[in-house]
Amino acid sequence: MDYKEARERMVNDQIIGRGIKDKCVIEAMLEIPRHLFVLYADRDLAYGDYPLSIGEGQTISQPYMVAWMTEILSLKGEEKVLEIGTGSGYQGAILAKLSKEVYTIERHKVLAERVEKIYDELGIKNIKVIIGDGTEGLSLYAPYDRIIVTAGTPKIPPPLIEQLGDGGRLVAPIGTSYLQMLILLEKNGEKTKITELGSCVFVPLVGKFGWKE
Ligand code: SAM
Repeated sequence: MDYKEARERMVNDQIIGRGIKDKCVIEAMLEIPRHLFVLYADRDLAYGDYPLSIGEGQTISQPYMVAWMTEILSLKGEEKVLEIGTGSGYQGAILAKLSKEVYTIERHKVLAERVEKIYDELGIKNIKVIIGDGTEGLSLYAPYDRIIVTAGTPKIPPPLIEQLGDGGRLVAPIGTSYLQMLILLEKNGEKTKITELGSCVFVPLVGKFGWKE
């Protein structure tokens, strides 16, 4: 299979075709080899318009969802970003391309270790994978300019709001375990503004400030 051609088709049909305009997001999605982030047997399906199973009961998000959430973050290249839910590592690779430094937290050790290997092989150095409960955030490197939660949660975990810097943006799917609303939280001083952007479906965020196991 010609993966470059598949990637171009994915970007034209699913990303540009559905209204994503941020040129940097488009370029990153043309460049990052998504097929290397899925299970070996699924490589030929990597550019399809759907999420795929990656083991441990988890998924790599649909390409459009990755593009949409990344566009909402409005990255300029200088940001420190925190991702909750490393999963396949694909979203993290896109974030690493478009920002200065990325910290990504995954609760499944097997997934986190697989992703670390992929980043090493691809020479992606400005991202650090951490095994743990992302609902508690990562106070060590806070504050963050951007936070992205890639698993569905009943409410925004309070530590994430605390660890978001002034002027920061946080994007997360909030709702029930089977349907969520993608929200953008913007922090300005003591004030936070929440905007609802549209419905989505993610696997659950499991942890102290998310769903219980
Ligand atoms: N961003 C991912 C990608 O590019 O493939 C998609 C992530 S997948 C939809 C959600 C991930 O969140 C799963 O890998 C799951 O194990 C992880 N997760 C769920 N709860 C978590 C938590 N409390 N802390 C860290 N990771 C968590």
